[in-house]
Amino acid sequence: MNKKFVTEYIEKRSKALSSKEAEELRDKLYNLKKTAIDNLDEYVKKAKSSLEKNGCHVYLAKSNQEAIEELKKIIGDEKYIVKSKSNTINKLKIDEKLKAEIVETDTGDFIAALAGKKDPHPVIPALSLTEKEISKAIKEKLSKDVEPKAEKIVEFVRNYLREKMLSAKVGLTGANVITTQGQIVILENEGNISIISHVPEKHIVVAGIDKIVKDMDEANKVVKAAAVWGTGQDWPNYVNVISGPSKTGDIQNIHIEGAHGAQEVHVILIENDKYEVAKGKYKDKLFCINCGACYDLCPVYNAIGQIPKPSDFERNYKCTLCSNCALNCPVKIDRQSNFRNNRKDFNKLEKIPQANKKMIENVRKYGNPFGEIKDGDTPKELYCC
Ligand code: SF4
Ligand code: SF4
Repeated sequence: MNKKFVTEYIEKRSKALSSKEAEELRDKLYNLKKTAIDNLDEYVKKAKSSLEKNGCHVYLAKSNQEAIEELKKIIGDEKYIVKSKSNTINKLKIDEKLKAEIVETDTGDFIAALAGKKDPHPVIPALSLTEKEISKAIKEKLSKDVEPKAEKIVEFVRNYLREKMLSAKVGLTGANVITTQGQIVILENEGNISIISHVPEKHIVVAGIDKIVKDMDEANKVVKAAAVWGTGQDWPNYVNVISGPSKTGDIQNIHIEGAHGAQEVHVILIENDKYEVAKGKYKDKLFCINCGACYDLCPVYNAIGQIPKPSDFERNYKCTLCSNCALNCPVKIDRQSNFRNNRKDFNKLEKIPQANKKMIENVRKYGNPFGEIKDGDTPKELYCC
């Protein structure tokens, strides 16, 4: 992880909200997300009904596979679609499953796709690439010479993608929040989402059912937190609020859909195992607003570029249990406790990673986790990561 980014991020974040304001917002967010997840079924029904009343087509997909099938039907024979950054859509692996070419319109995603190297960070996917590496990837993949300077690269990407975005028939985005009253809220800094959700004839939104909150007042709290904890901004550059397809009644009060914006809005809500998780002891993982703050301040992510994950056996044991993620989470997800509880579950199944077994053996045999160390030697293996 880029150290300059982390230092600047912490500074910006503390300027955007005082610690008292931040704590108040965390409490409110925790409560509103908890209520939403405790009433998930009701929230999903209400959101579906409101969106449909607004003229959207809504699909409830039980699994990622069902979501892909719906996408195929909506996209039809289109040759390419323009897409914004979305971790939910990324999990569908649509580039392998759809016939249409997927054009990434987020600068970071576009660059990461060209370079074939994507950082796992949910907000900054090209953070680990240098200007030189990006310029080289553009030369190799698109045969264009671009000076290895950030502003020149952005200028090139802007011009390259503009034409694609303006001529696409289908725009595909995620959603940061959906309300039970029928609003889809998507925030961004670049402006690509504003274009691809408005200009193509069809706008498809794919989101997990855990993105639903009660109303716009709650949605605004999520937007604020996503900006502050995500990038240290006071507020995102753009907040798109979409309630339905574009329409006009300007001619004789005749209602026509598709004036200047999207003619059709399709919303695919993915369930996966979320109803089950919502009833279990790890339900707080559904509170996540994907801000990425837990990545920014995690010592393991900063050292090895991979964030520990409570439910993943190998990745759980990489966690140092330092609590940074829990203390910095705007929705108060107690990841640290989740790591401990999952470990207890793994221990019951007698599942312990090889490296940890070795460390325990070494402590028993040599009194240290590294094994036999002769005078002046450094340990051959550290077993930590
Ligand atoms: S508790 Fe684990 S996951 Fe969280 S910040 Fe510390 S090392 Fe990272
Ligand atoms: S767990 Fe918390 S800090 Fe991490 S991405 Fe989700 S909301 Fe942000």
